[in-house]
Amino acid sequence: MLSDREKKRYSRHLLLGDIGEAGQLKLSQSKVLIVGLGGLGSPVALYLAAAGIGKLLIADGDSLDITNLQRQILFDTDGAGEPKADLAEERLSGLNPEIDLEVIDHALTEEDLREYVPEVDLVLDCSDNLGTRKAVNRVCVAERIPLLSAAAIRWEGHLMLFDYRRPETPCYECLYPPDAAEPVLNCSTSGVVGPLLGILGSMQALEAIKLLLGMTSDINGKLMMFDGKHHQWQSFRIQKKPSCPVCNLS
Ligand SMILES: [Zn+2]
Repeated sequence: MLSDREKKRYSRHLLLGDIGEAGQLKLSQSKVLIVGLGGLGSPVALYLAAAGIGKLLIADGDSLDITNLQRQILFDTDGAGEPKADLAEERLSGLNPEIDLEVIDHALTEEDLREYVPEVDLVLDCSDNLGTRKAVNRVCVAERIPLLSAAAIRWEGHLMLFDYRRPETPCYECLYPPDAAEPVLNCSTSGVVGPLLGILGSMQALEAIKLLLGMTSDINGKLMMFDGKHHQWQSFRIQKKPSCPVCNLS
């Protein structure tokens, strides 16, 4: 049962037929791991905390730099130099004291991921490097935990859902094979327009809420590409590769 305080806080969810009190209870019993508290992790963490996801594990090993503030809306100027994980904890617990937060203040290793991923219902990859993305993918495939992955650079963003509870789902390495090198382009060398990360992060949060409610998603196994300059979404089905060493061994 939701408390009267929760009923008031989540009243706009309770009005929705697809959520209601039963759905809100499902959200309050859900656990989610957010990998990275940058431009994507900021809106993801804010929306999922506000939505009343029962437990958020938030991981980031960086300290806040003034260059982050152009897009990382979780933070304020006053926090410059402080660990982002601690700043996020303060902000999110102020936003919604009804939820539990577990703070991981270092970059996640594959060993860490093997510890944390089995504890959660869903992983949101909001990281900024290929090594972490692949490690997150490997552990999610092995543990059959759904993965929502996003990325953005310049004016273009990507969104992918891999629901590894379903065996036909392709994986991140079907798209980016093991020998794929780290892309030369990244946000610190090529730039990114701030609201693009807000759009992609908000889409991650939206799909996360749907998945945790048990609603079907139209984007499982698809690469959704958003062109912010020309306002176009395109979607491509990702083929499950029979030769993929990650998803064909599990
Ligand atoms: Zn694969």
